[in-house]
Amino acid sequence: MIRDSHKQQGNRRKLVKLLEEKGIKDKRVLEAIGKVPRHLFLNSAFEEQAYEDRPFAIGAGQTISQPFTVATQSELLGAEKGMKVLEIGTGSGYQAAVLHAMGIKVFTIERIKELYDRTSKLLPKLGFRVKCFYGDGNQGVPNWAPYDRIIITAGAPIVPEGLLDQLKIGGIMVVPVTEGDSEVMKTITKLEDGSTVVRDHGTFRFVPLLEDRLD
Ligand code: SAH
Repeated sequence: MIRDSHKQQGNRRKLVKLLEEKGIKDKRVLEAIGKVPRHLFLNSAFEEQAYEDRPFAIGAGQTISQPFTVATQSELLGAEKGMKVLEIGTGSGYQAAVLHAMGIKVFTIERIKELYDRTSKLLPKLGFRVKCFYGDGNQGVPNWAPYDRIIITAGAPIVPEGLLDQLKIGGIMVVPVTEGDSEVMKTITKLEDGSTVVRDHGTFRFVPLLEDRLD
């Protein structure tokens, strides 16, 4: 049984309104955030606050991203229904669920076993058919490549150039790159000749993208 009370639905509508006020324009993103029960991706201790626009601890020293960050990254992806998207950093599974709710085929990889185990069970239970992998996202998921889009949900020390090999021509990677003590959101578009166009989209805060998986 999915617990989604009137109060939670009401709070979710308010969150969607807030995100619109903060500048999110893509209706498909707003609709998806309006559908996904964020309170079920959090420790039940935070349920009351689940629709506040802030991150929460999800265990193993990690966080579920702030809704504004999830909305911004989803909007910047510019993904169409049916596209294949690779997410690096499954975490709580919330970002993956939002993309799935937009009709996207989501592949997601997580390096912390505890989070992989929990989230790979939770997503199907809530009806989100997302393919979950355990491993180091810096290697991508070559077996299912190429992807139309790649989204990285942890702060990368540099643009992970190696992952561009798994991106289709014309594809877009959305990646927060650490500069000083925060992350600059970047889109990297891969052109026909293999070159890239990089654009900046403001400053955010992320947990770091780490090397190697943890066993
Ligand atoms: N998208 C997540 C955000 C989680 S925070 C959500 O919606 O909840 C970032 C996640 O990236 C953490 O779970 C962290 O363990 C994971 N991560 C960090 N480095 C990684 C790597 N090299 N490969 C895969 N996952 C990684």
